[in-house]
Amino acid sequence: MKLALLVDGQLAVTFGEEEQLLPVAAALAAAGDMAPAPTTPLDAACEAEMLSKRLDRATAILLETGKLEDLLLPPFAPRLAPIPRPNRILAIGRNYAEHAKELGNAVPDEPVVFLKASQSVIGPDQEVFLPDWVGRVDYEGELLVVLGSGGKNISEDDAMSCVVGYTCFNDITARERSKILQGKGHPWFLAKNLDTFGPLGPHLVTVDALPDPTNIGVSLRVNGEMRQEGRTNQMIHSIPKLIAYLSRWFALEKGDVIATGTPPGVGPLVVGDLVEVEVEGVGILRSAVSAES
Ligand code: MG
Repeated sequence: MKLALLVDGQLAVTFGEEEQLLPVAAALAAAGDMAPAPTTPLDAACEAEMLSKRLDRATAILLETGKLEDLLLPPFAPRLAPIPRPNRILAIGRNYAEHAKELGNAVPDEPVVFLKASQSVIGPDQEVFLPDWVGRVDYEGELLVVLGSGGKNISEDDAMSCVVGYTCFNDITARERSKILQGKGHPWFLAKNLDTFGPLGPHLVTVDALPDPTNIGVSLRVNGEMRQEGRTNQMIHSIPKLIAYLSRWFALEKGDVIATGTPPGVGPLVVGDLVEVEVEGVGILRSAVSAES
C-alpha cells in the first residue's frame, strides 16, 4: 500500500496505476465495513496486512456497486507529510562514500548520527522557505525508513522486522552556516533545522510494496535537471546495521524514522527552484523554493 494523509487529516491509500487517492474510512464505511480502522499512515502501516485485505474487499464491493468513482480523489489532492511529526528523525550523515568525499570529509567508520527536529517537516508540494541571511542552502535527497516498533539492542538479523515502510526525504541543509558553526566547534543542529527544511513524502510505502530496499535508486532533480543519482547498495552502513547501531545507544520507538544519508551530487537551492526527490518504487517528493517573508 501507498498511504497518504490528506490536508483535512483523512488517511488515504493510492488506487490504480494513476495513483488516485481513496479515503480509507469513507471507502470502508461505503462498503459496509464498520470495524475500527487506523486513522494515520503510521498506524495503517503497522497493520498493513489486515487493512490491505479489508480495502481489497471494500474496493471490490464499491466497484461492483459503481460507488468507487465518487470516492476517488485526484493523485495530487493536497496532502500533508504522511508522518507530519515523526517521533524522532534520526539522520545519518555521510553514509555514501562519494558524498563524504565531495564535501572534503573522511569516509566514516561508524555512523555519523544527528537529530533533525520533527518541526522541520513539511509535506509534498509545500514550499521550502529561505531566509535572506542564510547563505548557501543545499538539497540532500534521501530514503527515509519508518519504524513501527523499536527496542534496545536489536540484532541486525531482527532489525528489518521493526521497519513498516519507506518514504522520500529532503534533508535540506544551510551549508554555509553549517561550515561556520562547525568551524567554531559548534554542533550543526541549527543549520539542519530551519522551518520547512524537512520535506517528507509523498506516501508512506509499506514493506509489502517494497520488499527489497537494498538496491533501489535515490535521485534528485532541480528544475528537471538530474543532480543526484545513487543506489541504496552504495550505503556505507546498511539499514539493518543502522538500526542495530542506534539501538545500542538508546531504545528505538514506534514512529522513529531514519534518514539514511544522501548520495553524491549535493548542491545549492535558490529561490524559484523546484526540487524533486525520487526514490524508486516509493514516489516523487516535490518542493518549490521561496523567499521567507
Ligand atoms: Mg543528510
